[in-house]
Amino acid sequence: MIIDFHTHAFPDKIAEKAMANLEQNIIDIQGRNYPPDGDGTLSNLIEIMKRDNIDISVVLPIATTVTQSRSINRFAAEINGKNGIVSFGSLHPLQEDWERVLEDIKKSGLLGIKLHPEYQKTYVNSPEVIRILKKAEELGLYTVFHAGRDIGMPEPVHCSPKMLRETLEYVKGDKIIAAHLGGWRMWDDVEEYLVGTPIMFDVSYTKGFIAPEQYRRIIKNHGSKKILFASDMPWQPPGVSMEFLESANLGSEALDNICYKNALKILGKSEN
Ligand SMILES: [Zn+2]
Repeated sequence: MIIDFHTHAFPDKIAEKAMANLEQNIIDIQGRNYPPDGDGTLSNLIEIMKRDNIDISVVLPIATTVTQSRSINRFAAEINGKNGIVSFGSLHPLQEDWERVLEDIKKSGLLGIKLHPEYQKTYVNSPEVIRILKKAEELGLYTVFHAGRDIGMPEPVHCSPKMLRETLEYVKGDKIIAAHLGGWRMWDDVEEYLVGTPIMFDVSYTKGFIAPEQYRRIIKNHGSKKILFASDMPWQPPGVSMEFLESANLGSEALDNICYKNALKILGKSEN
């Protein structure tokens, strides 16, 4: 069994425009495109899951403005639990009704939220994000952060490993998932500030950006029980992410934890 803990899917109506905007951001920052493997729609994600043998995909929507959470969370609840899809919800840290939105996310049966400190322009160690983390912890909701640099956003970085470490003064951290192995292209800082903490990492969008030795070392030292298999579809297909994970030679027990056992615990599902 394989669970991909980091994917994206837009409603059909907006997928084309959303993907074009995101690709343009990448070209603006990187000076070249890193083309996606797909069109960003849900049906495309489901096709790729079949192709790459993924049993469950966790979709992580992102509210990039203070007014989007209602429609995003409606879409999330709609797709959640069908076709092998589990969706998280989202909200913007600066929206006034953040507390009620979190409660509604809990009531609608979603397991957590995704925050993107770069697209939301809020620092992970700011009071606005800390209050969300505390409330999410109280409700038993997981929080996935885009962590580290972003391929399509200018600096300063809003969720560095050091800033993320500071949140542990306020919350336990065992319900925080830092994407991109703790901090995209800030992996020396991940080793300094996050390895060994209760924060979980996903391995999404790492192949081609991190040295294989450092990838292996971070997973080994942090422990396979705190690592989640993830791709970042449509930006990197799960097959590519899996090939990279397998090439790290972590052994079958670690691989089982990373590929599905840890995720099943979060999803509250049993192995059958
Ligand atoms: Zn992502």
